[in-house]
Amino acid sequence: MTTKKRIALVAHDERKQDLLNWAKDNTENLRQHLLYATGTTGKLIQDKCGLDVNRLKSGPLGGDQQLGAMIAEEKLDILIFFWDPMAAQPHDVDVKALLRMAVLYNVPSACNRATADYMISSTLFSEEYKPVIKDYGQYLDRYEK
Ligand code: PGA
Repeated sequence: MTTKKRIALVAHDERKQDLLNWAKDNTENLRQHLLYATGTTGKLIQDKCGLDVNRLKSGPLGGDQQLGAMIAEEKLDILIFFWDPMAAQPHDVDVKALLRMAVLYNVPSACNRATADYMISSTLFSEEYKPVIKDYGQYLDRYEK
């Protein structure tokens, strides 16, 4: 049985074509899951791949932060984020925050095509998988007597 994963798709402008190519090559697989995306990336994937995408705000207008919040609420299973290594972004701090949330909550994340290929070809992509989340109890209790 396939487990529906909640997958976020994001690409900076110079990487959008790369993400689109990957999504086109994996359309039928992606169709079995629940897709979220930042605004412009989501529109492109909807229009060019015919996939249903839950579109959030555009990245620079808060979309990355929305995805970060979803991760903090444990509402996202996979992050595919093709960020641009050659250009500073107006929302660099939001990008960093999103990547930090993904590491903090042990969310599988792909920032390039090769990693995305490895991930989507793994059986875990469509099987039940519960990421181990580090125990922050000691941190939370630091002011408890
Ligand atoms: P966009 O945002 O999909 O709205 O272009 C991507 C981003 O820059 O985070």
